[in-house]
Amino acid sequence: MPLKIPICNFDAKTGILCTRCEQKLKSGQITEADVSVSRALVQLAETNQELNKISLLKSYAVDGDYVLEVDQHGLATFRNNEKLKTMLEEKLSARVWIVSSSNSERRYLEDLFFPTRVLAVNTVWLPDGAKLTKVIVPFRKMRNTNDIERIKRIVRETRGIELMVENERDARFRRS
Ligand SMILES: [Zn+2]
Repeated sequence: MPLKIPICNFDAKTGILCTRCEQKLKSGQITEADVSVSRALVQLAETNQELNKISLLKSYAVDGDYVLEVDQHGLATFRNNEKLKTMLEEKLSARVWIVSSSNSERRYLEDLFFPTRVLAVNTVWLPDGAKLTKVIVPFRKMRNTNDIERIKRIVRETRGIELMVENERDARFRRS
């Protein structure tokens, strides 16, 4: 089974889009991020056979980072071999985030926070009616602040989620 990507494999290999893919790009059905990521994946798949079994469904570019929406098998492939993500980051000269294709907001957040465990996801309504999504993570296991800011930007741009991150200890303190 070949690698499944949003553009033709041939286009990804040559770097030139066929008229059909060009049209998809113009109409916004696919993005420049899809093209860049597909090209990088196809190149990596030549020497990393396991990539030939994954499906890339969509990619987003957010502030210089790439978010790749892949199938379940793809998620497992990247998690089982951390080197694959590092190689992809080198090829794209960018930070790469791998998420599984899912409509679940919680699942999306869990994938972005991985390997940090998401303990709870709550909706918080502010007095002005604005909605916030609060993620609670274990104390001391929190990703660094820079990562959290990146995750916040990613979810805002890709899903319109305003995120708030709290660690377990502070969350408990607030409740009592
Ligand atoms: Zn094509």
